[in-house]
Amino acid sequence: MLSTTTQLLRLSQGQLNLLEACPRKFQHTYLEQLSSPLDPEHEERQTLGSRFHLLMQQREMGLPIDSFLQVDTQLQKWMSAFGNAAPEVLTPATNNQTFRESEHYRTLQVQDYLLTVIYDLLIADNQQAQILDWKTYPKPPSKSKLAQNWQTRLYMYVLAETSEYLPEKISMTYWFVQSEGKPQNIKFNYNAVQHGNTAKKLNQLLSKLTNWLKSYQNNEQFPQVMEDSKTCDYCQFATRCERKKATDQEISNDNQLSVNGASLLQNLANIREISL
Ligand code: SF4
Repeated sequence: MLSTTTQLLRLSQGQLNLLEACPRKFQHTYLEQLSSPLDPEHEERQTLGSRFHLLMQQREMGLPIDSFLQVDTQLQKWMSAFGNAAPEVLTPATNNQTFRESEHYRTLQVQDYLLTVIYDLLIADNQQAQILDWKTYPKPPSKSKLAQNWQTRLYMYVLAETSEYLPEKISMTYWFVQSEGKPQNIKFNYNAVQHGNTAKKLNQLLSKLTNWLKSYQNNEQFPQVMEDSKTCDYCQFATRCERKKATDQEISNDNQLSVNGASLLQNLANIREISL
């Protein structure tokens, strides 16, 4: 009897962003798992950001957070500024008709991929559904840039596809808790036209990925961005991609990162797959 098992590749918004920005970078990062260590300052910012997310989650679950705030003045400042700027977000509705959940997880299968989203907070009632996301980096990007980010597109797309809400009843709001002055937000309202556009772009991107993955199994590399692309200027793989001349130190680092063809394919086989 033939097996009906389908192998799905799990993808997040971050992976879609990377794939769209540069397929070769996706290959290096996710298939070959090559990366350079984070600089300590960046790492510290990430840790603080994770702590804020955790704190918001604990708070939403009704768990005490005072002991965390007492020992962390930065978190204390963010939380108090956020409470002043958006009291309605921190204050749960008194009726039991409203659904609220932090770290709300959803998946959607498109082609042979399982798209996964995690909403920092989902607030939904019989009228509308709001996705909220906390950002702890200092400078908010422009609204147009954020609109094109796969986080915005995928998060609203998945909710419309996996719930009863019409696209027009869905919104997504980013809260930048650390912006200069006071926390700022950028809100996106969704609609059926955007939903159709996202479906098209998503299917195109995933079809390309399927072809690139097939070629990769035949030892072909994923495509690179154009030679003079600015994306390469800030890319950690610029030397490996021969987009910049390597220093001796970089040659040595690169050699240490090198993996042979067999292990590349093994990584591909091991990328987080799930059987349905
Ligand atoms: S150096 Fe350029 S081509 Fe190579 S992975 Fe980075 S962005 Fe892509």
